[in-house]
Amino acid sequence: MTDIADAASRLDLDALRLRLLERDEGKVNESIPELANADPGVCGIALALRDGQVLSSEDTDVEYSIQSAVKPFVYALALADDADRVHDAVGIEPTGEAFDAIRLESGSGRAPNPMVNAGALLTASFVRGSSIEERAQRILDGLGLFAGQDLRIDDSVVESEQKHGDRNHALAHLMRSEGTLQIPVDDAVAGYARSCSVLVTTKQLAVMGATLAFGGVNPMTGRRAVSEDIARDVMSVMATCGVYDGSGTWFRRVGVPAKSSVSGAIVLSAPQLLGAAVHSPPLDPQGTSARGAVGAEVLSDELDLHVLSTSRS
Ligand code: GLN
Repeated sequence: MTDIADAASRLDLDALRLRLLERDEGKVNESIPELANADPGVCGIALALRDGQVLSSEDTDVEYSIQSAVKPFVYALALADDADRVHDAVGIEPTGEAFDAIRLESGSGRAPNPMVNAGALLTASFVRGSSIEERAQRILDGLGLFAGQDLRIDDSVVESEQKHGDRNHALAHLMRSEGTLQIPVDDAVAGYARSCSVLVTTKQLAVMGATLAFGGVNPMTGRRAVSEDIARDVMSVMATCGVYDGSGTWFRRVGVPAKSSVSGAIVLSAPQLLGAAVHSPPLDPQGTSARGAVGAEVLSDELDLHVLSTSRS
């Protein structure tokens, strides 16, 4: 067994889960009924290792909509399908603002980065396909490669996302006026909403994180989802922009490329070490799972995952 697999198997993930459950800060997102109805008492932690093994606590088979944790993976697929178009329209600089800020890169009209809604509306529009349905299928198939399992979309979440998606419509109109969005506004919002509405479990999300961590190859299936270069580019942007205006604090405290989401999931990719996911619905003011962030910090400390760690042998 490798050192990291050995250390991971010695962790008591159920004990960590109980410790996290003692914390009751944070508030469940109420932007749509499907999220508002989430059980605040759910808390799960999963680790996906190089040999395909998944270590997990209780509550890691609970399904929820992936929400913004989909953004790194859609970015990866868009890069694979049309990197030039993505680079022309989507930057890679952190914004220091909320995920749904109505703001484009000054001067260029580009979306600031693919981890905020502006960028994700574009990347979801750049994946291969000539209709909403074709692009949604491409995204679903691509996410399935990352997860090593077939995934599906929750139609009631799609419907709610579209009904309550005024800010996303506003962003799409703005980008259409700048010429960066090339498909109709309604199609872009519909495509992005579908990507956010893919159902995952915490175990599946950990494997998705591991696929990036191991250079684009799913450690469970051995199948390649994206190239090694794309996996590295995606993890770079997760490291700098993945937790929105909390990305600096996250990098110092956890030091692992990650992406948060309003469903309370956080996906982590520790390069060449492991993939992980933590999930618990109550969110801090920046929209990151409050328990998830603490859990991630504990995992990083216990397993020495910080990418800038100088103590790892
Ligand atoms: N679907 C949500 C939105 O567009 C996703 C946001 C998130 O998870 N931060 O507002």
